[in-house]
Amino acid sequence: MEQLYALLGQAYGAETASRIRSGYSAERPVTFRANTLKTSASEVIFALSECGITNVERVPWYRDAFILREGGESDLTGTELYREGKIYLQSLSSMLPPLLLQPETGENILDMTAAPGGKTTEIVALSGGKALVTACERDRIRFGRMKFNLERQGAARVNAMCCDASALDDFLSFDKILLDAPCTGSGTVSTSQPIRFTREYLAKCVRAQEKLLKKALRLLKKGGTLVYSTCSVLKEENELLLSRVLPLAQARLLPIEPFEGLPLLPSPIGTLAVCPTDLYEGFFCAKITK
Ligand code: SAM
Repeated sequence: MEQLYALLGQAYGAETASRIRSGYSAERPVTFRANTLKTSASEVIFALSECGITNVERVPWYRDAFILREGGESDLTGTELYREGKIYLQSLSSMLPPLLLQPETGENILDMTAAPGGKTTEIVALSGGKALVTACERDRIRFGRMKFNLERQGAARVNAMCCDASALDDFLSFDKILLDAPCTGSGTVSTSQPIRFTREYLAKCVRAQEKLLKKALRLLKKGGTLVYSTCSVLKEENELLLSRVLPLAQARLLPIEPFEGLPLLPSPIGTLAVCPTDLYEGFFCAKITK
C-alpha cells in the first residue's frame, strides 16, 4: 500500500491524497439499480416496502438507482425481486459509464470487457432492450457468471462472446463501445482488506489497458462514442494513458454533463474522476469520440 500512497501523493498532492485515503477506510451502504427490462423504480420501492424494507434512498443523478440506508446485501438477495432479476446490486460509481454511453434504439454497441455483466445489463435496460449489444469476456468462469446474470436480468439476447477483446477482427465496427478496463482497483481499496499493489502490477495493467483502448478506437465508427472507465484513481491508468493514445487515432474527449452530488477529484474536461467516499467507490470515466 505504501507504493500506492506515494503515487497518490505525487499525482494529487498531500491534501487530496489524504481525502482519497480516508475514502479507503469508509464503510459504504449497499446500492442497487431497478432493472427496467423487468420492472420500474416505483414498483421496486413498493415491492420492497411490502417486504418491510423502507430505508431506501434515491440517487439524484439516476432515477433507477437506490441506496439501502440500513441493512446488508442479504436483506435484498433474500427477496423475490432479487431472485427474479428485477434489481441488480451495483456500486453507484459503476452505474456511470452506461449513462455516459447513452444507448439508443438500434445502435450497435460493444461492451469489451463485460463480466460479470452489471454494465452490460444496464446498457440493455437504458436502450429499452432495443440496442444490439455484444459483450466480450476473456475469462471462462467470469463469462459463465455473466451469462447467468444476462439471463436473470432478461438480457439474454445479448451476443455474448468468450474471447480476448484485443484480438477482435478490425473488420467489425460499432456505434458505441464501453471499455470498462481491467485495472489495479486503486479506487476500490479498503483499508480493512489491503491490496498488494506494486509498480510492476501497475505497469502490467497499463499495458493491457493500452492494447484494449487501441483496439476500441479501431472498432469505433467515425463519429461514434467510446466510454473508457476503470475503478482506479491513478493517472497512469486514466488521464496519462488517454493523452498518449487518443492523438494516435485522432480521437478526442467529449464534454460530460454534471452529475449532482458526485464527489469529484480534479480531472480534465471530458472525464470524471470519482473520489472514494462513504457512498462512492473511486472510479474514472472518459467520454471519447473520433
Ligand atoms: N464491466 C464489468 C461489469 O460492470 O460487470 C466489469 C469488468 S472488470 C473491470 C474487467 C473484466 O475484463 C474482467 O472480467 C476480466 O476478466 C476481463 N478482461 C480482461 N482482459 C480482457 C480481454 N483482453 N478481453 C476480454 N475481457 C478481458
